[in-house]
Amino acid sequence: MSSPTIDWHASAAALQPDGRMFIAGQRQASASRETFACVSPIDGRTIAQVARGQAADIDAAVASARAAFDDGRWARKSPAARKKVLLKFADKILAAKEQLALLETLDMGKPVQYSLGVDVPATARCIAWYAEAVDKVYDEIAPTGPNALALITREPMGVIGAVVPWNYPMIMAAWKLGPALAAGNSVVLKPSEKSPLTALRLAELAMEAGLPEGVFNVVPGHGGEAGEALALHMDVDAVGFTGSTRVGRKMLEYAGRSNLKRVYNELGGKSAFIVFPDFDDIARAAKTVAGSMFFNQGESCNAPSRVFVHESIADAFLATVAAEAPKYQPGDPLSGKAEMGALVDDTQLKTVMGYIDAGRTEGAKLLVGGSRVRAETGGYFVEPTVFEGVNNRMRIAREEIFGPVMSVIRFKTEEEAVAMANDSAYGLQASVWSHNINRAHRVARALRAGMVHVNQYDEDDITVPFGGFKQSGNGRDKSLHAFDKYTELKTTWLRIDN
Ligand code: NAD
Repeated sequence: MSSPTIDWHASAAALQPDGRMFIAGQRQASASRETFACVSPIDGRTIAQVARGQAADIDAAVASARAAFDDGRWARKSPAARKKVLLKFADKILAAKEQLALLETLDMGKPVQYSLGVDVPATARCIAWYAEAVDKVYDEIAPTGPNALALITREPMGVIGAVVPWNYPMIMAAWKLGPALAAGNSVVLKPSEKSPLTALRLAELAMEAGLPEGVFNVVPGHGGEAGEALALHMDVDAVGFTGSTRVGRKMLEYAGRSNLKRVYNELGGKSAFIVFPDFDDIARAAKTVAGSMFFNQGESCNAPSRVFVHESIADAFLATVAAEAPKYQPGDPLSGKAEMGALVDDTQLKTVMGYIDAGRTEGAKLLVGGSRVRAETGGYFVEPTVFEGVNNRMRIAREEIFGPVMSVIRFKTEEEAVAMANDSAYGLQASVWSHNINRAHRVARALRAGMVHVNQYDEDDITVPFGGFKQSGNGRDKSLHAFDKYTELKTTWLRIDN
């Protein structure tokens, strides 16, 4: 994927991102007038000053969202009317694709051809899919007795707080916005302080598409300020959160300390990728794991970071992984050619390098990579890194690294592989590679993960739920099931007299 006609460096030099908040249909400074520097991980340059949203700004955004919800300017429009506006919103996202892709890449470091070819279209498709779905879902009538009619209906919940991370800033926002807006709710979105720019632009595009004022507000700011204020707010009905398990715990506490709002947590992962010797194309399995692990700099919640390989094929598998990994060597994210870009910031760089040190110290063998590169650019780049000889007790096998680091563990039996795969606090995604149909089904059933893949890893579609078991969370983004999160179930009984 490359974009030879666009000079991304020239476009970046000309760009002047607007970092003001978006509340009640308007760009505005924060109440305190404070800002924070938005730093590009590509070169350490400040690309914008962004409004530092705090409790007063969250109050204003929630009040605007509540007013919009209560007067029904969006919630009481027909589903067909909401669909029309949201389809236009999706079109506007596609029409602004180059600007959005550039903002995304400058903000969080991924290669621009992927922002353009993956993130923008996935964002538009998500919004369009929920728009298309909302006038095709029916409510229910319960099979009660002859003297009653019981209606089971879904109503929009009210004001939804969405708190999202920086690894796929637009897509993660769209996974909340699509179902929440289509169902008729108002939304206050708090993007990550590490990647606020595309969320702010999305709000403008939604307004241009005809979304009424106040229905979609964006308050950038720090997690412990704007994020906490939103999750603690007494007038927010539900929080859709995507981020770390550490902050997911806090989200549950905030709900308990405030109004018991619904909390949907989409959290971290340490996904297992299990290769059995009866899978006859070891090279394909190895190429898939490298591609899936190093895509997005390894900053994917579902990255296959724990790879279990049967001892009889481990050497052949590792030889292919070692040949594949260097193809993901980081390069200039604006070149249109780099397979891997920059890690999101200096903190993430230190975290990833800390785990690489831990792997060495704990006795794993470094097979590929392990170093920071391109430091002269001022950016935060780390080589694709593979450890072998890992055991499942090491930190690099237990903790989410969220960077380009793969841990390979050898196993002897199916039971041992399943036991190690399940011996994790996380349960987001897993994959089993086997041509034995009984084994494939048996292992897929035994794996405690929300998403299990057989003989592939990356199949993905908006029609299919995304989410995990255990400490990977309790919510499901995507698919019609996401409507359950942003609607209240109501029963209405009517008496029928003879
Ligand atoms: P994070 O938890 O640090 O931050 C996520 C969001 O929460 C940000 O907007 C942040 O500002 C906010 N936040 C931070 N502290 C807060 C607080 N005390 N109160 C309220 N809000 C707060 O996560 P991150 O580093 O941005 O993202 C990486 C994590 O996201 C990884 O663990 C990754 O696995 C996870 N993730 C999960 C999914 C999924 O669908 N399961 C998808 C993408 C990312």
